[in-house]
Amino acid sequence: MKNNTVFIFSGPAGVGKTTLWHLIEKDAPTIEKVITTTSRPIRENEINGIHYHFITRSEFEAKIHTGDLIEYAIVHTNYYGSTFSELDRIIQNKKSPIYIIEPQGMVHLKPLLEDKWYKVVTIFLLPPSLDELKKRLHGRGTETPEQFEIRLATALTELEQQDFYDIKITNNNLKIAGKELLDIIHR
Ligand code: 5GP
Repeated sequence: MKNNTVFIFSGPAGVGKTTLWHLIEKDAPTIEKVITTTSRPIRENEINGIHYHFITRSEFEAKIHTGDLIEYAIVHTNYYGSTFSELDRIIQNKKSPIYIIEPQGMVHLKPLLEDKWYKVVTIFLLPPSLDELKKRLHGRGTETPEQFEIRLATALTELEQQDFYDIKITNNNLKIAGKELLDIIHR
């Protein structure tokens, strides 16, 4: 019998994964977001320890060598990954973890969690259209044109992964998509 459910919530950068999660988190008290670790520079509106654990590249590489990470990936030239201790912390709190990560992370993480006897539910968030995704990527205003091109190319590759997920949600309307996500979590 698999005892704990772990959710993996993915989708291309800019599709609205984090926004959607913030919209519903107060209605999902049994679920806790896994705070992942990154070497990406912190953005103006971000808080260390809430949005991510921000560390340097060399600190991240040290974690790779010591085996602290369940999974890690290089996304847009930066390292992203999650630690065993963060997963244990959430399970000890008797909550179900939700990973908000990109698709290469899901492909690595899912079998590792299943090996540890977790039931894994994977959910992919789709943009309403490619044009809308481009608009959202531009709207972030945190990138140079070169960074935008990298993000767009990555997003297109990520969209190709959608059929590997258990459930797909289209983010046409935040409230409706939020309700769909909550229904899945509560089921
Ligand atoms: P951003 O820099 O826009 O915050 O995130 C870039 C991408 O990295 C997003 O798709 C985000 O979900 C993903 N990401 C965040 N944490 C992790 C992680 O621990 N592992 C993997 N594989 N991807 C992650």
